Amino acid sequence: MNTNSAEILREKGISPSVQRVAIYDYLMTHFTHPTVDEIFKDLSPSIPTLSKTTIYNTLTLFLEHGLIDSFTTDDNTAHYDGNVQSHAHFQCSQCGEIYDIPMPKTEAPQLEGFEINGMKVFYYGICEKCRKKEI
Ligand SMILES: [Zn+2]
Ligand SMILES: [Zn+2]
Repeated sequence: MNTNSAEILREKGISPSVQRVAIYDYLMTHFTHPTVDEIFKDLSPSIPTLSKTTIYNTLTLFLEHGLIDSFTTDDNTAHYDGNVQSHAHFQCSQCGEIYDIPMPKTEAPQLEGFEINGMKVFYYGICEKCRKKEI
């Protein structure tokens, strides 16, 4: 168990159970925007008691505390992101991989009476790896 992750959870008032720490550790070491199914597939061999419901509930708890971020792709799959710094995403239409890319500088629009709390930027195309395969 990574004591550092346990400490971060404790600071947020989250009781650091073995499962919660494992899920948090996973997201802090896999910046691949995993889904619940992917996290389950990778963690369940070492934590046999882990269920998809536990993963989902834990991720929801982390989201509420701002520890992680999440987004949904066009196929309605929820992806989870351990990188909470402002950044944009690029999804490759061939391999499906979702990359972190720097957020382009944009002015927030001035909307009378509205309060803007965030924005998500998503680019689509073909990644470098897939383009190299084509040549
Ligand atoms: Zn690709
Ligand atoms: Zn990301």
